[in-house]
Amino acid sequence: MFENKERTDVSQLGEFGLIKHLTQNFKIKHESSIKGVGDDAAVLDFKDKQVLISSDLLLEGIHFDLAYVPLMHLGFKAVQVNLSDICAMNGVPTQIIVSIGLSSKFPLEAVEEIYKGIELACNKYNIDLIGGDTSSSKQGLIIGITSIGYAEKDSICYRNGANEGDLICVSGDLGGAYVGLQILEREKQIFLENPQIQPDLEGKDYIIERQLKPEARRDIVAILDQIKVLPTSMIDVSDGLASELFHICTESDKGCTIYEDKLPIDPMTYETARELGLDPTVCALNGGEDYELLFTIKQSDYEKIKNDVDISIIGHITEKSRGLNMISKSNVVHELKAQGWNAFKANN
Ligand code: ADP
Ligand code: MG
Repeated sequence: MFENKERTDVSQLGEFGLIKHLTQNFKIKHESSIKGVGDDAAVLDFKDKQVLISSDLLLEGIHFDLAYVPLMHLGFKAVQVNLSDICAMNGVPTQIIVSIGLSSKFPLEAVEEIYKGIELACNKYNIDLIGGDTSSSKQGLIIGITSIGYAEKDSICYRNGANEGDLICVSGDLGGAYVGLQILEREKQIFLENPQIQPDLEGKDYIIERQLKPEARRDIVAILDQIKVLPTSMIDVSDGLASELFHICTESDKGCTIYEDKLPIDPMTYETARELGLDPTVCALNGGEDYELLFTIKQSDYEKIKNDVDISIIGHITEKSRGLNMISKSNVVHELKAQGWNAFKANN
């Protein structure tokens, strides 16, 4: 994908030259970042706050396909996916550590594109890049990101705090990232069969963006703080709503009932799923990569949240013995199955 562009061999710069070149534009923004890139370890000081740390590993061919993922988007998304985990603890993300493995097919220009996306995400979300590691890779591109953030001890939301009667809420809309991926996959196949044909993504911009450019819902964390709602449990939707509900219910030792007609599905997601012969509800339940926040709140907080157009109440927590269920639009009870995307299953 870089055939027509300038190609500078990474080895021309050497490891230290490369690191300096990639990180020189990143400015430290947080008082908590005492020392960033440039020593054996970064130094942080969060004073009386609790520290949140999370890590994700992205491998070419397993988690992304460079046939349709632009490198800048990849850098941006890799950061967002990580920030989402800190947000899902009801925390504020502040720093990231980025490690990369590069195969020889990646010229400097390609790595620069990835770092442009990382920089964009850091500037947009006020994040310090405080370190990383750089290595060559025998096969493909590897990006490992660790994100760091903070929260007050009493405001951290774990997966295990849901109580019977709590309302189940989800931000934004669901299924779009998955349906967007199906469109990209379809266009890739058409291109492979006939490289003359240009991809037809017309009218699909929202769902393509949901797949390529997700945004961690830090704004929801801020809104919850503003309206003084402390979720009893929270998780981000990376593997799909059903899978995340399983995590919350298992960890909290509870069951749940959700309602199909309450699931937030964008019209473009709905129509495109139909066009592709997919059930929009299944896309919302099992699609994944939406990076929305799924959380439970006490019933007494209902008044505070009911007018927020970006938060949908989709059901409630029940006792464990009731299991996990969805009431369909035609009023039939369906047992939910966790069909989270499984990196091991998908590639065997
Ligand atoms: P070491 O030999 O101790 O692992 P490195 O030479 O790998 O040190 O790293 C030197 C500095 O550059 C460290 O502060 C490290 O965190 C940072 N660094 C290395 N690789 C990256 C990268 N890909 N992105 C950001 N910072 C990096
Ligand atoms: Mg190193």
